[in-house]
Amino acid sequence: MSSIFIGSTPRRRIRTLMVFIDGLGIGLNDPRINPLARPCFPNLRDLLRNAVSIDATLGVAGLPQSATGQTTLLTGVNAAQLVRRHVEGFPGPTLRALIRRRNLLSEMVTRGYRAAFANAYYLEDSDASARMRHPSVTTVAALSAFGFVRDAAHMMRQEAVYQDLTREALRIRGYSGPLLSPESAARHLLGLAKREDFTLFEYFQTDRVAHRGNETEQIRVLDELDRFLGVLRSFAKQRDRLFVLCSDHGNLEDSRTSTHTMNPVPFVAVGSGAKRLKSRVRSLIDVTPELLNLYPGHACFSLSWPAASRVQKAPNSTVAKVVIGDVSRKSSRVTRNSSTRRTVLS
Ligand SMILES: [Zn+2]
Repeated sequence: MSSIFIGSTPRRRIRTLMVFIDGLGIGLNDPRINPLARPCFPNLRDLLRNAVSIDATLGVAGLPQSATGQTTLLTGVNAAQLVRRHVEGFPGPTLRALIRRRNLLSEMVTRGYRAAFANAYYLEDSDASARMRHPSVTTVAALSAFGFVRDAAHMMRQEAVYQDLTREALRIRGYSGPLLSPESAARHLLGLAKREDFTLFEYFQTDRVAHRGNETEQIRVLDELDRFLGVLRSFAKQRDRLFVLCSDHGNLEDSRTSTHTMNPVPFVAVGSGAKRLKSRVRSLIDVTPELLNLYPGHACFSLSWPAASRVQKAPNSTVAKVVIGDVSRKSSRVTRNSSTRRTVLS
């Protein structure tokens, strides 16, 4: 048994597997509108039935978007309030600076834990990640924490999982290796998560197929995700293991629209520390600080970390310099007052 010490008290070391799912909100329990309400996806439904419903609007007008939602999720800072709007897709200079300054993965490393971003990138060479013109939030976070992202060699050694789980999407990029079942992809991820203190995997096919509005595609993606999660759930059955699932905004749960929604998103926690987490997480803002509370270190992570005020206005940005600590405190108050707790898909 590995232990860490807080003062003179030994504390068992926890291992967390976190799955981030893009565009998965909590919608109506109506199968005509919400594909997740159909009796077809037992693992997803069971996980969501025990989810906490958390705010993704961040107290900013307009539809929640990926760049600001994911930045908030991985930094604990209300990125939408920082730039005064919801930002789509990929983070711009201001958000990238915020992510690089401090994020969930880099803080794990700083505190002396083993962490991994499990997604495989299909790159031409090992330096290609640094040349990406539009890196995602998770890419920026992983590069700042580790200096690299996992590539095809990691994938072939079963130490990384491609974003679509099956590798089917790699065929058009010249991949001629075997395709995987979602269950096999999950076993590869479990193998990695069992060796690391904290492992993050990002799945975004949900948001993609929701934007396209093709029902057949949506059912296929949900079926693959359900099978994937069915294997991953076993992770939390062992002692000192935690399984977490969350999203950045709604989309797939409402087939009446192909845009994002204002719905809350699920925060799922199963296993060690789950009860406390579920009682404290009310918004995307809370996820990183509360997860880091499970991993004590020398640094004291709080919503008002004063050093973050040094994040400067980015070149060509119209956003004025903001003291991030103040924004975070304010936004936290807003979302706590407006958040609702409802259990889903009962
Ligand atoms: Zn989207």
